[in-house]
Amino acid sequence: MLLLALPLAVAVWAFGGFAAKRERNNADQELVRDLNSGASVYARLLRDARHTADRLAGSRRVGRAFAQSDKLTLRAIEQAHPWIILLHGAAGGLQGRAVEARVDVIGRERTIGRVFVVPPFGRRLVRTIGDEADLPGGRLGFLLDHRLVRADGVGRIDSRPTAGKPADVRMQALEYRAVALPLREQRDAPVLITVRKRSEIAAAANDVRWRVIGLGLGLIGAFLVTAYAVAPAIARSRLSRLQRDQAQRVLARLGDGVLVVDHDGVVQLWNQAAETITGLRAAEVRGRRAEEAIPGWTTIATFVPVADRPGEADGPSSSETVPVDVAGRELWLSIVAVALDDDTVYAFRDATHDRRLEDLRSQFVATISHELRTPLASLHGAALTLREHDLPAQTQDDLLEMIAEQSNRLANLVEEILVAGQLDSGSLRVVADTFDPEELVRGVVTVARSRVGEDTMIEVVVPPVVPKAHGDGERTRQVLLNLLDNAIKYAPSEGRIEVGLAAVGDRLRFSVQDQGLGIPVGEQERIFDKFYRLDPDQRRGIGGTGLGLYICRELVRSMHGRIWVESERGKGTTFAFELPAEPLPVPV
Ligand code: ADP
Repeated sequence: MLLLALPLAVAVWAFGGFAAKRERNNADQELVRDLNSGASVYARLLRDARHTADRLAGSRRVGRAFAQSDKLTLRAIEQAHPWIILLHGAAGGLQGRAVEARVDVIGRERTIGRVFVVPPFGRRLVRTIGDEADLPGGRLGFLLDHRLVRADGVGRIDSRPTAGKPADVRMQALEYRAVALPLREQRDAPVLITVRKRSEIAAAANDVRWRVIGLGLGLIGAFLVTAYAVAPAIARSRLSRLQRDQAQRVLARLGDGVLVVDHDGVVQLWNQAAETITGLRAAEVRGRRAEEAIPGWTTIATFVPVADRPGEADGPSSSETVPVDVAGRELWLSIVAVALDDDTVYAFRDATHDRRLEDLRSQFVATISHELRTPLASLHGAALTLREHDLPAQTQDDLLEMIAEQSNRLANLVEEILVAGQLDSGSLRVVADTFDPEELVRGVVTVARSRVGEDTMIEVVVPPVVPKAHGDGERTRQVLLNLLDNAIKYAPSEGRIEVGLAAVGDRLRFSVQDQGLGIPVGEQERIFDKFYRLDPDQRRGIGGTGLGLYICRELVRSMHGRIWVESERGKGTTFAFELPAEPLPVPV
């Protein structure tokens, strides 16, 4: 605050100086004004004197007095008219006198006398003019040579000021400010002058300066006192504004969605994270009733408990995970609520991902335990039966074969889980190599044929010339085997399965076509998801983990290929995937 007061004080000081200077200028102007008023009174008096001169020159009394040389009468007339001098006869003038006008009086064709207008420059005239022009005493004077005649006395000044220009003059060791107006054109002509003591002007200027400085400093003082008094309030409001801004910034940056609903159920606040999580803009939600603006609000209001204090919100029961459907998208929100005066503050985060993980985990446990149960029961049964001593050799063989088959199934299951885990963690190795796709297809088909009954026909359709494929031969075999296994699993036993290979541009397309159950269009995307099965309850008795197609998709992607399905319910399904191919040699 002092930092502000200091320059203000300097400014006030400067302004005081400026005001004093202005006051001095004003004093000069006042002198000029007074001089002008005095001059116009003088001009009027001179005009009157001229008229008087004319009148006297024409008067019979004056004519007679001149004619008769009646000096007594002439002096009497002169005394009655101080501006007028009457000279008898034609000769003679008034040398050295400031004659303003002359009127000759003619009698019998000769000049018998002259009427002169001569201003009576003296203290009386000064007083008369000063009184008529209403000037302050001692202000006006006549300068006759170096003599200054004023109403209250006569003094000598050291220099004559230039006409019309305020100047400093000295008179009897005193400094004066003066403005002069020569009354005639001659060099030494009488001058009308207005004067004022410089000490008086300086005192007035000083007075003004101190008054301005006093007022300014007073104002600064008042400002400082006021500022001092209101500073804490300003600081407090500044602080609360800062805190408010900070709270707003925090709310905006917060990863958690924040929603404030007032006691009328109207949404008062909907922060940026709330927008991001739900996709609902603040503009669409704020100011509206929560149940109209927020889908699933009834569930939230019903299931989320409102704590009285934030401290009470601790504990597992306080946060609820509830589903909200926004524009066809199912969101799971984990919400806590706390009462704030009349409002309720809800903080929520997107728990959809966690929820999905949770679903996957329970799906995994359910699927795997189900998948383990059948082979384990078979193995257990076979082992118990084998313990009996008198089993026919054929039965023993059959049981051993079943043990081999079921343990193989278990091994495949474990392999699938392992590969899926490696794909998730990114640790699965895929070799970048080239391989002969036809050899691979024929190998896979031979293995598959050995697993199916005679009714199922597996055919291979391969063009005469196929390019080599880019990718990991082993992983491709895994993919193809899986697709072929599915075709066998999900198709009637007497169906026909076709495994195809075709060069499409710079790619190689592998396909497996069956005449089985088919897959509804709406499910065709999702069957590639982890654990996704069309028939999770295995009502058709076909087991599986739902991992196979997920693994296929990930493997094909990691070899820079793509996989898709075309299917019609009840008619059959074609799975196809493409891998990059080596260019075919150009035929010569
Ligand atoms: P799994 O076969 O172990 O259940 P997959 O990931 O291989 O798992 O397949 C996912 C689901 O896709 C299967 O449960 C099945 O419902 C469906 N499916 C896969 N292949 C076929 C097919 N050839 N015909 C019909 N449905 C199929």
